[in-house]
Amino acid sequence: MLMEEARKQIVEYGKQMSSAGLAKGTAGNISVYDERTGYMAISPSGIGYFETKPEDIVVMTLDGMIIDGNRKPSSEHELHSVIYKIKPEARGVVHTHSKYCTALACMREPLKAIHYVLASTGVTEVPCAEYATFGTHELAEQVEKAMGDSRAVLLANHGLVTCGVSLTKAFNLAVSCEFCAEMQWMCECTSENKGVILTEKEMEDVMLHFQSYGQVKTPDKNNGGY
Ligand code: 13P
Ligand code: ZN
Repeated sequence: MLMEEARKQIVEYGKQMSSAGLAKGTAGNISVYDERTGYMAISPSGIGYFETKPEDIVVMTLDGMIIDGNRKPSSEHELHSVIYKIKPEARGVVHTHSKYCTALACMREPLKAIHYVLASTGVTEVPCAEYATFGTHELAEQVEKAMGDSRAVLLANHGLVTCGVSLTKAFNLAVSCEFCAEMQWMCECTSENKGVILTEKEMEDVMLHFQSYGQVKTPDKNNGGY
């Protein structure tokens, strides 16, 4: 089976995404990119995460040509493709409708540096892309416009998309963004000062620390964060 490992990984992370409450029902989607072939493996459209099998995963080019698979690919395949095109280091993309990120995206509010973990995104504020209908080329274009140096983007009135040097990193970033969004929401609801935003300098220091966080042998800015 073409991209067998990637397909299995997508199935596993789909279940995790669902269990972690990051996406309800068939909302959200996951992909892995193989730089050697230029192919992307992506979850199928509208199939529950606990029903999805490796053979349901679709292998396609970044230009939308299906290489392998009998299912219809995720309706957001252009959203995933555009991220691999603008982030050459990306090997995994995760799109969620997680609750707190989506609430901020409904208010068209960026994710702010209320908690240091936000530095995992590579920026001090995660932008919110302008609204476009789900599953459209226009949505992919809005994300391309908004993304800049960030590894995460909020989608207006929709959800969140993240990328990483591996699917694990992209998934962990989606979890971290949801945590930060929840903190932001709690601070905005309960505190008069709406939470203290870390300064650019404080965030830069965290990003520097993240480059060598964990078991990384040589500091790597693309590997930064949890
Ligand atoms: P798919 O089931 O087609 O992946 O769509 C889910 C979604 O979240 C659309 O934005
Ligand atoms: Zn969606």
